[in-house]
Amino acid sequence: MFVSKASSYAASPIREDDSIADELKKGGKEVIKLNSGDPPRYFKTYRYVIDAYIEALKANKTFYSDSRGIIELREAISARHKRAYGLDVSPERILVTQGVSEALYLINTALIGKGRKAVLFAPYYPPYMPYLRVAGGSAIIADCNEDENWEIDIDGLEKKIKESKNIKYMLITNPNNPTGAILPRKTLERLAALANDYGIFPISDEIYDELVFEGKITSFSEVAKGMPYMILNGASKTFDATGFRLGYALIPNDDKKSGELYAKMLDLARMRMSVNTPAQYAYAEGISNINEHGKAVSELRNGIKERVLYVAAEVNKNGYMHAITPMSAFYVFPKLDMEKLDFKDDKEFSRKLLLEKYIQITRGSGFGKEGHIRIVSLADKAILSDALDRMADFCEKHKR
Ligand code: PLP
Repeated sequence: MFVSKASSYAASPIREDDSIADELKKGGKEVIKLNSGDPPRYFKTYRYVIDAYIEALKANKTFYSDSRGIIELREAISARHKRAYGLDVSPERILVTQGVSEALYLINTALIGKGRKAVLFAPYYPPYMPYLRVAGGSAIIADCNEDENWEIDIDGLEKKIKESKNIKYMLITNPNNPTGAILPRKTLERLAALANDYGIFPISDEIYDELVFEGKITSFSEVAKGMPYMILNGASKTFDATGFRLGYALIPNDDKKSGELYAKMLDLARMRMSVNTPAQYAYAEGISNINEHGKAVSELRNGIKERVLYVAAEVNKNGYMHAITPMSAFYVFPKLDMEKLDFKDDKEFSRKLLLEKYIQITRGSGFGKEGHIRIVSLADKAILSDALDRMADFCEKHKR
C-alpha cells in the first residue's frame, strides 16, 4: 500500500456521500443538503464582524501572527470566559487554532500514541475518532442513555475505566452535536471527580455554548476548580463564521500536566507558523463588542431554535422515527423505528434517501450510534418542510 494505514481512519461520515450528491446535481436533480452544520450558508455572518475583517485587510494586517494567536484576541477570549463563567484565565494559557478541528489534531498529536486511549461519549462528533486513531490511539466509548435525555452512564464508564490502562483524556461535548443535549452540573461534577480519581485529562468542547434555547450551560471550568482541564471553543457556530477557521484551546491551570500539554501543543502549532491573521482581528472585535454580539447572536439563536423545534416536531409525527427534543445547537437526531422500516441499517436508509429523494443527511453510526440519523436543521423552513415531506414519502414506500 502506497499510503499509510493511519490515513485510512480519516474518512468523514458527514461528507461521505458528497460525490453522489454532486453527480445527482450534475444530472439536474435538486439535492437538499442537510448533512453539514454550516450556519453562514443560511444566516449571514454578523455585519460588524465582517466590517472588522475588511478593516484588518485594509490596514494590511496580513502578516504571520504569534503562533499562539494575536494578543488582542487572546485577551478578548480571556475576558469572555471571565464574563460568561467567572473564569480567570491568562492569555498565556490560550492557544488560538484553525478551528476546534486543529485543536483536536494538536491534542491527539501531543497526548496519543500506540497503546494510548481516550474516552469518547456516544453519540460523539465524528472527527473525534479519526483524530484519535490517526495518532495511533483507540477509544473507550461511554454510553449515553437516550431515554434519559442522553444522560451519561457514569457507573458504566467507571467500570470501563477500571478495566483499562493508559487513558490520557476524556472528551465531552456540551452542548452536544448531534443530540442538542446539555449536560447538567451534577453530571459535570461527577465527570470531574472521575477524571481526577483516575488521572484522566478532561477536555470540554463547548463550541455551541451560546446556542442554547433556554438559559445557559454550565461550563466545565465551573466544576473543575484546581484540577487540570481544557476548554475548546471557536468562531464557527456562536459567531456564525465556519469559514474563518478559528478556534481556541484554554488550559487555565498551572499544574505540571497543563503546563506540559500547553507547551507541546504550542510547539506543534509553531510548525504551521500562525493562523489566519485578519480573521483573528475580526474575531477579537466579534467577541469584544458585547452589544453588537448580544443582538446578533440572539437573532441567530431564535432563528435556529424555531427551525430545530419545527423539525423535531415534524419528525415525531411521521410514525417511523422518534427524536428527543434538542435543547441547543442545530441538529435533530431521531432514532429510526427499524421494526417498521425495511432497511438493513441507518447507512442503507441514508444512502437510499439520497438516491431516491435527493436528501443528504448523516447516518447515526457515523456518530457511534447505530439506527439513528442526523438532520441539520438550518435551512429555510420551506426547504425543511419539502425535505420532511420527501422523507415521509420515502418511509411509507419502504415500510415493512
Ligand atoms: N466540535 C464540534 C462539537 C462540532 O460540532 C464541530 C463542527 O461541527 C467542530 C468541533 C468543528 O469546529 P471548527 O469549525 O471550529 O473546526
